[in-house]
Amino acid sequence: MGLEERPAAPVGTNSYRVSRPAIVGPEVPQAPFPILLSGPVQHGFGRGGKDLGCPTANLPDESITPMSSITEFGVYYGYAQVAREMEGQPVLPEGDGKVLPMVMSLGKNPFYNNEKLSAEIHIMHDFKGDFYGYGMKVMVLGYIRPELNYISREALIEDIETDKQVALRSLSRPGYSKYQLDAFFSRMNEATQPRL
Ligand code: ADP
Ligand code: MG
Repeated sequence: MGLEERPAAPVGTNSYRVSRPAIVGPEVPQAPFPILLSGPVQHGFGRGGKDLGCPTANLPDESITPMSSITEFGVYYGYAQVAREMEGQPVLPEGDGKVLPMVMSLGKNPFYNNEKLSAEIHIMHDFKGDFYGYGMKVMVLGYIRPELNYISREALIEDIETDKQVALRSLSRPGYSKYQLDAFFSRMNEATQPRL
């Protein structure tokens, strides 16, 4: 089937929501992935997040410019790691510094009249507390689904839950899980040093 014959992706329909695939993306990440981001975690604009049971860590604008090569807004999956140290001293519990699965929502920030690209990163881990100011590294490995408009808070929460499951299953394939050991996560990186 030629590209031009490919059916358009279903967007925002109920049938799409009830028939979501359990696993997404090719067996191994394909260009432009992996996309690497890093920087200190900053305050978001306080919309949703913890209220929806899904806190999302935000990176500064300059840290998310690699995502501007992506033209499709929606939900992505990959790995993230929070730096445990502040001024060379370990301050977060060891488990919080692991390379962990994440889901990212990429879109335009309505708070800034949709002019600014925003990347909201939810890490699938129970952190002991907030980690504002800590360095964070993010590796984006694949695409889950387009951005949808929600008629209800319940529908949104339901889709986020499905996104997490889809991300975990998609990342458990060997072609993806090996990236947890990538040198990107073990090397020192200026950009992830906390801003004091
Ligand atoms: P904000 O609008 O400031 O981003 P959120 O309600 O989205 O507020 O909460 C995000 C913050 O919650 C993150 O910056 C981080 O410090 C903290 N946090 C705690 N657990 C998580 C998690 N599992 N994933 C992402 N952020 C988390
Ligand atoms: Mg947030």
